[in-house]
Amino acid sequence: MTSLFTRIINGEIPSHRVYEDELTYAFLDINPRAPGHAMVVSRTHSETLLDLPDEALAPLFEGVKTVTAVLERALAPDGFTIGINHGKASGQAVDHLHVHVIPRFTGDGGGSIHSVVSNPPKEALEEMAARIRKAQ
Ligand code: AMP
Repeated sequence: MTSLFTRIINGEIPSHRVYEDELTYAFLDINPRAPGHAMVVSRTHSETLLDLPDEALAPLFEGVKTVTAVLERALAPDGFTIGINHGKASGQAVDHLHVHVIPRFTGDGGGSIHSVVSNPPKEALEEMAARIRKAQ
């Protein structure tokens, strides 16, 4: 089935577009967490970063940079939180990879990325790093 965001990219579902190029599309989140909360998506459908074809990676992140710069000019925020919910456990609700670009304003009441989870490992960092290196 065609993903919700593919249908948005194709214009079958309306969206508030803020940027597009040949490979990338960006639009405002329908439930914005901040003024200018936008999402950047690749026109190539993939559910997560891990299934995005390598050649689509750079264009997507170039799109993220462009959208961030445009939001900076338009809204003059004090910062940004830029992130991806990857997989259901992280809160991913739409199965088309999207990068949230959320303008941040001093005193907006939000937290940093560190505030999304508090589940420190039981293993020492040395052990954890060795385990991860072994999986390469
Ligand atoms: P995530 O939890 O990262 O999968 O976030 C999906 C986001 O898509 C949510 O922030 C929703 O508010 C947003 N969203 C869902 N449907 C639409 C839509 N039709 N247009 C714009 N944003 C949408």
